[in-house]
Amino acid sequence: MTDLTFRAAVLRSSQEPMRIETVVLDADPRPGEVLVRLKASGVCHSDYHGRIGEWTMPTPMVLGHEGAGIVEAIGEGVTTVEVGDHVVLCWTPSCGKCQYCIAGRPVLCDRFNETGAQHRSPDGTTRVRTVGNEEVFSFVALGTFGEYAMVPESAAVAVRRDIPFAEAALIGCAVTTGIGAAVNTAGVRAGSTVLVIGCGGVGLNIIQGAALAGARTVIAADLSDAKLDSARALGATHTINSGTTDLLDEVRRLTDGRGVEFAFEAIGLSKTIELAYQATARGGTATVAGQVPEGVTISIDPFEMSDQEKVLRGSNYGSSRPAIDFPRIADLHMEGRVQLSPLVTRRITLDEIDDAFEEMSRGVGIRAVVEYE
Ligand SMILES: [Zn+2]
Ligand SMILES: [Zn+2]
Repeated sequence: MTDLTFRAAVLRSSQEPMRIETVVLDADPRPGEVLVRLKASGVCHSDYHGRIGEWTMPTPMVLGHEGAGIVEAIGEGVTTVEVGDHVVLCWTPSCGKCQYCIAGRPVLCDRFNETGAQHRSPDGTTRVRTVGNEEVFSFVALGTFGEYAMVPESAAVAVRRDIPFAEAALIGCAVTTGIGAAVNTAGVRAGSTVLVIGCGGVGLNIIQGAALAGARTVIAADLSDAKLDSARALGATHTINSGTTDLLDEVRRLTDGRGVEFAFEAIGLSKTIELAYQATARGGTATVAGQVPEGVTISIDPFEMSDQEKVLRGSNYGSSRPAIDFPRIADLHMEGRVQLSPLVTRRITLDEIDDAFEEMSRGVGIRAVVEYE
């Protein structure tokens, strides 16, 4: 066994600052594993839920799940990536064998709840430890707020080498979640009407996805005029500052009184999920793509649901098939058909991670990205 020591931001408690610690990893991949040297990691709202204790997490933990890097070593049996490949990490490692995987829905893999969701590798172990030999969990078996990660093969998806790492990292969560929610989950069609509530990392990508699919009307709603400007730049045809304008009135005004065919909620609040549903037209679909804190419930009118044949559905990771969607989105970015660079609003070192969380708590910027040497 060869020990690899590296720097990582370690969460000990939601009440304490994150600590930059030297941690240890057994550098020899086990069968089916890939050792990745991280080059970039986005700071996502799901990390924030863990950071501030809204989601229960085992500790100590290396957070971070939106990463890109270079394959350093592969374990026995690994065939889809080679040493030197540039990879985007996927936070739902999948088994490839269960009924969901076979049906082409790997983000719903049967094995995920036993492994990634427990922040453990598929063999049930954790791979990182402190120098004092304490077990360290890696968020969804990735832990991209560290310089290295040992991940299952299905979590390392090769992409073209000319895409910059910061942009590639965002494909690992916000971009795929957003574009996928529009294109895969909801199936936005050419000419359709769309509402997106919340213009953060996911919402802006739902807007890009809706525009890519040919939606005619894309209404963006947020409380921040700066985010609404970004929404326009990425394809929104109309914007609503819901702090100053009544969202439902304005949506109805823009849609001949009907509401939209496709509404999306990309914040994770019960109030805005209810609003998205209410803003959906008869026969339309409201999709929840926001990540909600534990314990939140919503209230909707079930009579309206049956009477108007309205659909309320969830979208996890954009209903993506990462092995197909990641390289495809990288191509779309490099061809200029989706724009990932405007999403990177701050570049930081690992030491500045808590500053990024603090900015996130104030709703500043779109994505801070940690860049590694
Ligand atoms: Zn995320
Ligand atoms: Zn599976």
